[in-house]
Amino acid sequence: MARVTVIGAGFGGLAAVRALRRRVPDAALTVIAPRGEFIYYPSLVGVPVGDRDGADARVALGPFFESHDVNFVSATVTGLANEGRTVLTDHGPVDNDVLIIASGGESLRTLPGLEHTFAICEGVEAAEQIRDRITTLHRGIVACGFGGNPAEPQAVRGGPVFELLLSIDTYLRRVGRRDAVDLVFFNPSLEPGNRLGPRAVSTVMKEMESREIRSHLGHKILGFEADRVITDGGDVAADLILFVPGMTGPAWARESSLPLSPGGFIRADQSCRVFAHPGVFVVGDAGAYEGTADWMPKQGHAAELQAATAAVNVAHFLAGEPATTTFRQELICIIDTLDSGIMVYRSSRFAGALPSPAWRVVKHGLERRSRHAYSATRRRHRDRHAASR
Ligand SMILES: Cc1cc2nc3c(=O)[nH]c(=O)nc-3n(C[C@H](O)[C@H](O)[C@H](O)COP(=O)(O)OP(=O)(O)OC[C@H]3O[C@@H](n4cnc5c(N)ncnc54)[C@H](O)[C@@H]3O)c2cc1C
Repeated sequence: MARVTVIGAGFGGLAAVRALRRRVPDAALTVIAPRGEFIYYPSLVGVPVGDRDGADARVALGPFFESHDVNFVSATVTGLANEGRTVLTDHGPVDNDVLIIASGGESLRTLPGLEHTFAICEGVEAAEQIRDRITTLHRGIVACGFGGNPAEPQAVRGGPVFELLLSIDTYLRRVGRRDAVDLVFFNPSLEPGNRLGPRAVSTVMKEMESREIRSHLGHKILGFEADRVITDGGDVAADLILFVPGMTGPAWARESSLPLSPGGFIRADQSCRVFAHPGVFVVGDAGAYEGTADWMPKQGHAAELQAATAAVNVAHFLAGEPATTTFRQELICIIDTLDSGIMVYRSSRFAGALPSPAWRVVKHGLERRSRHAYSATRRRHRDRHAASR
């Protein structure tokens, strides 16, 4: 029985488990992650504005692992040995015949003064801290922005920042405090979020203008102090700074022999195969996929597409065949503004953005579907598989 190990229990890792169970039903599957819990990041943006609870973003994975016959190892990966055939963890080594890396990306924590900022991408606690600050801020200035990774321009997380800022505006209007709280958006680019496509940038910037959100654009971010964002185009005064740094790859990969891109991500082809490491695949935010469009996002949707592709190619690898499948390059993002939504879509043929209150409903529906997929107890895989033989 082939031993397939997945590192990570996020969008990419869990989608890989589901796809692997279809493609290699007999494989012994192991998932390694610090906790048997899925953090549904898109729900976090609703926490500061009271649209979600922190608990809404957490899914306990026990039933999912059981129904998919997964051996869950609660551990933190520290490196690889034997060209990937052994995963090193803080709870000992785990051997495999095939490895899928889905351990996500990390924040680039190089700017001075980051301790004065709050980052929604850091998880449930960070989202709750932002909620506590927003709900008690009766007057002042909220500065909200995102940075990049100079070594890898794709490694940005802009969508959730636009979503957070527009939702905070809606929230403050609802509670009658918007006149007393000034909102300012800062970004080093003159066209922030341009990877979403030109139509999306203009739609989002117009939305900000119509809501009287000020912007400070085109100036390099130099650092932060308790009451200001420091840029090479002057300071932005702030009582609360919400900042999502640029992204880099997983820290543990830097201690391994894996090939890394300039920005620190694991280099792979569009079949998700890590270069020069047969039987090692990468999916999701952890990877840098050579030859993909420069707008390819680091997104849950992309991680799921990559996981499905990797599972097909894992089956080929185990059968001694060459990889046949590459993943679809596509960006889908719904910016939920608490009172409406903007759907952004991009592929090699089309890039567009469409505002409509319906997108908010769609986003909630997608969340429910994803939470259900990873929390519902299903008939055990082993029983189902035995019955079908
Ligand atoms: C606030 C916010 C809102 C977002 N909204 C959207 C959205 O609306 N739509 C969308 O498509 N995308 C959205 N994204 C992006 C999306 O969440 C990520 O792109 C997605 O989570 C990437 O999936 P992943 O599996 O690569 O990594 P993750 O989901 O980050 O999962 C990584 C997994 O690896 C584990 N791990 C990490 N380090 C180790 C280690 N050393 N050893 C073992 N395990 C480890 C983690 O515990 C986790 O289980 C949002 C992101 C944020 C932060």
